[in-house]
Amino acid sequence: MPDMLPPGAARPTILVVEDEASLLTLLRYNLEKQGFHVEEAADGQEALLRIAEAKPDLVLLDWMLPALSGLEVCRQIRRRPATRDLPVIMVTARTEDQDSVRALDIGADDYITKPFAMEGLMARIRALLRRSGTVAAKGTLAWRDLAMDQDAHRVTRAGRALHLGPTEYRLLEFFLQHPGRVFSREQLLDAVWGRDIHVEPRTVDVHIRRLRKAINGPGAMDVIRTVRSAGYALDVEAA
Ligand code: CA
Repeated sequence: MPDMLPPGAARPTILVVEDEASLLTLLRYNLEKQGFHVEEAADGQEALLRIAEAKPDLVLLDWMLPALSGLEVCRQIRRRPATRDLPVIMVTARTEDQDSVRALDIGADDYITKPFAMEGLMARIRALLRRSGTVAAKGTLAWRDLAMDQDAHRVTRAGRALHLGPTEYRLLEFFLQHPGRVFSREQLLDAVWGRDIHVEPRTVDVHIRRLRKAINGPGAMDVIRTVRSAGYALDVEAA
């Protein structure tokens, strides 16, 4: 999956339990952008049902919920043998340290206080999934003079640091996993954006252009090959 898993690997499922529709939409958007599969529940009762049905890899659990509070949901998750080790991040609107301590006491693995930065939340989710073994710690991908440190999210070309946007990063990551192979725009969309997200194939061209600009410095050889009517590859033109 983008950012975290090799393409073709199963996408970790995140169950978002949140009764605030606008926040739910925002979370879904951001999680899907990171390549996660998202399930939703709008109250505590539904959360417990969805956990049994969808078998998520991680639960993002709002504290203040109708029907059954987040704390009670967390308590029940820990009580049931099937979900005892299910990673849980509690989302709280409260700033009192006391409540955060309570969340951890009740068995949450981590907590985050509203309002939070999406980037911070994504980092915590990734860290927790790594800790739970859902996602392996990654290594370094390299091809010719390109190197990508997947844990530090750093990319260099001939030792020079490159600055890529998140989509360009995932595109390059995908290419580095399959150097020399030609991918159609549709294949790139599936692998990098995800099957569930509707994006025009032309969008791929835009991001390829940005990726080229970011990695091909002045005088550097273009390492993205355009294959007419087929797609793109990480490759160099035959001399
Ligand atoms: Ca709430």
